[in-house]
Amino acid sequence: MIQFNNDAYRIGGIPVQDLCDKYGAPLYVYDAAIMERQYNQLKNAFSGANTKIKFACKALNNINVLKFFKNIGAGLDTVSIQEVWMGVRAGFDPKNIIYTPNCVSLEEIELAVKEGVQINIDNISILEQFGHKYGNTVPVCVRINPHVMAGGNINISTGHIDSKFGISIYQMRHLERVIKSEKIRVNGLHMHTGSDILDVDVFLRAAEILFEVTDHFPDLEFIDFGSGFKVPYKPDDYQTDVDALGVKLTSTFNDFCKTYGRNLELWFEPGKFLVSQSGTFLAKVNVIKQTTATVFAGIDSGMNHLIRPMFYNSYHHITNVSNPEGTQRLYTIVGYICETDTFGWDRKLSEVREGDILAFHNAGAYGFTMSSNYNSRFRPAEVMIYKGQDYLIRKRETLDDILRNQIEIEALI
Ligand SMILES: *Cc1c(COP(=O)(O)O)cnc(C)c1O
Repeated sequence: MIQFNNDAYRIGGIPVQDLCDKYGAPLYVYDAAIMERQYNQLKNAFSGANTKIKFACKALNNINVLKFFKNIGAGLDTVSIQEVWMGVRAGFDPKNIIYTPNCVSLEEIELAVKEGVQINIDNISILEQFGHKYGNTVPVCVRINPHVMAGGNINISTGHIDSKFGISIYQMRHLERVIKSEKIRVNGLHMHTGSDILDVDVFLRAAEILFEVTDHFPDLEFIDFGSGFKVPYKPDDYQTDVDALGVKLTSTFNDFCKTYGRNLELWFEPGKFLVSQSGTFLAKVNVIKQTTATVFAGIDSGMNHLIRPMFYNSYHHITNVSNPEGTQRLYTIVGYICETDTFGWDRKLSEVREGDILAFHNAGAYGFTMSSNYNSRFRPAEVMIYKGQDYLIRKRETLDDILRNQIEIEALI
């Protein structure tokens, strides 16, 4: 059982109310110490092999967070050329950046080659064009879909047979022909089965499938097992047992390396595991609205700032940080957007009053990065707590940000 809010009213030692007074709300706050704790936990769990951890920056892409991960020794997993550029700007050695796009053009991949990052290709058509252009001069990793269902929401599962991700394990012969004819040097194999490893043995089965196809690829330097590390969102949630996975996977991996005849690197690219728990989203309650069915707490935010509950039906634990000792009552927490943007039904919170600050826990991953300006709302500010100190790492937007790229044409004056 995971404990939430053992110190709910402080983040990284700083009182939440002080942060809201200083920076306003809504506000994202990230505790760097928790990112480091998570990174070290993975690092230690897989210390039995030559393991490299690449932070999947689509989960949280503030440049300070990227720099922080670079400083503690992580690499970077990117899914767009823009993320590659962000990584280079943050100071990552391009060799430590992997670029794992899906359905992008060869032109975009060429830009990534120019940056010197590790390319990962997930379809045969582009791989063939890539080989035609670069032959064996630029090594490439290929993304394999082992079709092992790792569980979780269908929108985040990528391993199923209908998934658009990866080159099917059933297309090995075709893949091999393309590699041979274009003299492509495949230096890595990659899989990313989905977002939740519910069962360590299911994950190991997918790994075994990758090991089995390695005899088609004599030039491997690494195998990238993607991500899928689950973190607890509900008070009684479990998380992926990374220590058990670490023991089992490093052992089978090392056996595999012996058979393969060379020591390869073992890569992972977690997003959520590294940053989800570090983040808290804070928003003020605008209105308490009693209806015939429920009591709504309407907050000064919505799906424009935190869309996971509406998009993935995901649970975020919510606490009332302004009234910790209040009587427990039931509320339905909703946003101010003109859509049905419900954060949670029938949540027990200590009595909520207009003006109170609610904390949405585990909001570090896919929180800010999925935010938008829908309803012409400003995106929130971001604060990072680093070594006991709070830093503003993104300022709140203004109307100028909304209008920045709009062009007011003369004809309408
Ligand atoms: C999104 C993504 C990840 C990170 O997934 P998490 O569930 O956040 O750990 C890793 N690899 C690839 C290729 C991804 O697209």
